[in-house]
Amino acid sequence: MTTRIPELSPPPRLLLGPGPSAVHPRVLEALAKPTLGHLDPEYLKIMDRMQRMLRDLFRTENELTFAVSGTGSAGMEAAVVNLIEPGDSMVVCVNGVFGGRMVDVAERAGAQVTRAERPWGEVFTPEDLAPLLAQAKPKVVGIVMAETSTGASQPLEEISRQVHEAGAMLLVDAVTALGGMPVEVDAWGIDAIYSGTQKCLSCPPGLAPVSFNARALDVIRSRRTKVRSWYLDASMLASYWGKDRVYHHTAPINMSYALYEALRLVHEEGLTACFDRHQRNHQALAAGLEALGIHFTAQEGHRLPMLNAVSIPKGVEDGPVRKGLLERFDIEIGGGLGAFAGKVWRIGLMGHGSRQNNVLLFLAALEQLLAEQGYGFDAGASIAAANGVYGRTERQA
Ligand SMILES: *Cc1c(COP(=O)(O)O)cnc(C)c1O
Repeated sequence: MTTRIPELSPPPRLLLGPGPSAVHPRVLEALAKPTLGHLDPEYLKIMDRMQRMLRDLFRTENELTFAVSGTGSAGMEAAVVNLIEPGDSMVVCVNGVFGGRMVDVAERAGAQVTRAERPWGEVFTPEDLAPLLAQAKPKVVGIVMAETSTGASQPLEEISRQVHEAGAMLLVDAVTALGGMPVEVDAWGIDAIYSGTQKCLSCPPGLAPVSFNARALDVIRSRRTKVRSWYLDASMLASYWGKDRVYHHTAPINMSYALYEALRLVHEEGLTACFDRHQRNHQALAAGLEALGIHFTAQEGHRLPMLNAVSIPKGVEDGPVRKGLLERFDIEIGGGLGAFAGKVWRIGLMGHGSRQNNVLLFLAALEQLLAEQGYGFDAGASIAAANGVYGRTERQA
């Protein structure tokens, strides 16, 4: 047999969807560095520095802060299985796909789950949760900070206070939030939190940063039953990430290099500058889309800077536009999930992807495709509106 197996040749896509997002070239280079042993003293130094950078990004001094080997969903599973024992009561806030996924994960871990529900695109207020907290007396309340399926941004401070007054622990999904907007683990009293490398960290999918505070750690240490997942057992993982360096599973070494470099990039830019950049590019994109008569699905005042979910305008077909973006412009955006399938586009401006080059290129490409569909708008309006936000139009006028 002389069949030849084709070489790998992934096209150079611009990833402007809900993740994975654009990877920074320095992160790709880090992946290609020599693999070390997972107990090599040089690798242990890298782990220590990575832990320090993760704590800085999560804004926490939590001892138990590390990266789970797996994508964001592994982070979700790790947070849930470590805190929940069979029969425990857990309230999960559901206003999109990822809250729904957390319900499934919690049920598999044996939790008695009570769903708190809000319409897609809306967020939870403490008043929404009060009756459920009184009734379910949960051990844990799970909530998604940046709901990537709807583009809604969930405020956490007041909810955290309320959850703690009810005696429960707060578990937060920050998969899309981390690196793109402020996440204040200690100041907001978050007990357990998880994220992923592939959204706002300019890194490929593969690791899930997590952090547990002292209260969560106590709960884990005083469990009556073993954690249902051997692989994700935080106390065993703590022995590898802590001083003892006990072998558990082989760390994905080169993926750790990638996360290390991604965290170094955030560190160099500075958190405030990084969040401001996400906000500015979001505003420019939003101005451009609104100028085309395209509107956001998330509640006003609760829109995510890194994930722009908009309703597909009447008379425009989802398929041809996304296909045109991909095939003619090498741009990927996301379609709608679940209840939003076929009705919504999700445009991600995450990490390295959040740049004005991308905003302007995307709007220009979108205008061309919309015009082909016979959709009426003033040609160039979106570019002018975006440039207005960037402050260029005024200067030239
Ligand atoms: C992407 C995402 C996840 C899942 O992460 P994976 O890396 O796909 O496993 C979980 N929660 C939210 C909010 C996400 O956006």
